[in-house]
Amino acid sequence: MSYDGTDIADVLIVGAGPAGSHLAWLLARQGLQVTLIDKENFPRAKVCGGGLSRKSMDLLGFDLGPALHRPIDAAILNFHNHNAIIKEMQPIAACTVVRSEFDKLLLDRACAAGARFLAETAFVDASESADAVSVSTSRGVLRCRLLLAADGAASAVRNKLFGKDLVSYVPALEAMMWPAPGTLERFGRRALFDFDGMPRGYGWIFPKRDHFNVGVYSPFGGTSLRRHLDRFTAAYASLQQPRRVEYQGYIIPLANRRQLFQRGRVWLLGDAAGLAEALFGEGIYFALKSATLAAKAIAEDGLRADSDCYGRLLQRELLPELRAAARMAQLIYRFPKFAFSHLVLNQKINHDFAGLISGDIGYRECLRKTALNLPRWLLPSKPPDSVASDSC
Ligand SMILES: Cc1cc2nc3c(=O)[nH]c(=O)nc-3n(C[C@H](O)[C@H](O)[C@H](O)COP(=O)(O)OP(=O)(O)OC[C@H]3O[C@@H](n4cnc5c(N)ncnc54)[C@H](O)[C@@H]3O)c2cc1C
Repeated sequence: MSYDGTDIADVLIVGAGPAGSHLAWLLARQGLQVTLIDKENFPRAKVCGGGLSRKSMDLLGFDLGPALHRPIDAAILNFHNHNAIIKEMQPIAACTVVRSEFDKLLLDRACAAGARFLAETAFVDASESADAVSVSTSRGVLRCRLLLAADGAASAVRNKLFGKDLVSYVPALEAMMWPAPGTLERFGRRALFDFDGMPRGYGWIFPKRDHFNVGVYSPFGGTSLRRHLDRFTAAYASLQQPRRVEYQGYIIPLANRRQLFQRGRVWLLGDAAGLAEALFGEGIYFALKSATLAAKAIAEDGLRADSDCYGRLLQRELLPELRAAARMAQLIYRFPKFAFSHLVLNQKINHDFAGLISGDIGYRECLRKTALNLPRWLLPSKPPDSVASDSC
């Protein structure tokens, strides 16, 4: 494909994160001419906890090989230190990855299926005609029938073509910590969620092969994230006197204010569309899922500018789940003491919370069960196995 706009690709995908590369793979397998551009060269670093839920692994449906750092088969849930519990999960509920490796794997898979990748090619602007979109990039003009924007939370495509205020987002801060020898082995295959880690949010500890990813997040946003992160890390023995620490922060887009995902020949996916979930800040699964729905819409309606199939599929299969996640986040983080003592410490409901990550239960179903059973759960019950939080 030339940079002078003479050739027309079926689709031009902007951004080779999980949404873009998965979509490129799906569409190349449909036999479409796919061009994928990214402003970076790959592998590239990406700010992310690298917690990959089992539902994401199932959706991808292939062996991650060495890109899988640690399977996660237990979660430590903590509130006010003395209240920590361990939730065992079989089969594994998640795994950890490092995004530079994971994203490169998905990109290589898309290229192997026939997608053409142009590195260090940034989207600049676009204009639409009756039958095509002309896209200005940092390297020249590309033309396509559909422009599929998967360029992340600060999407340039969205800002240029849909307006700067379409998506609302919150900040999140993380630290990569390389601990003393033996610490990761003692921590094991567990992920830790601490509801004291951040006001109206949580702190996480995700073990990787050679380091911990530790971070704080609240769906209500917040300030002084570095202070909260320092306080959180100071509470855990495993995180003391690390050999090396690297801090990085970015934004998590939690809502699409006008429920606008498509304008003619231009569609938004993943973070660019505002499709991360509010309860845990999980975004990879929803990015992959939006790619699946976009590919399904193209398979059904072709490359038509007037197709509303993608929007309908989002409305049916993805947005109700995100709305339920937002409601659960409101309940849990606004009333953490109540939520921890009546929901998290309750074995039936914490089983469902684990199921949200693994994909064994959806957010709507979990919310419905919580609402129906809440009166019964408010009665005193025997708490599950406890563990001293300083064992971490
Ligand atoms: C601190 C933090 C921790 C997180 N932890 C987790 C977690 O543990 N698990 C989880 O599921 N989610 C997590 N998330 C959310 C997750 O990172 C995102 O939801 C996910 O990366 C979205 O994927 P995407 O493909 O939509 O976009 P991205 O992964 O952001 O990919 C966008 C791509 O577009 C490219 N791009 C950007 N601008 C342009 C341009 N102008 N031209 C061309 N290319 C461009 C970028 O280089 C990038 O490669 C976290 C987020 C943060 C901030």
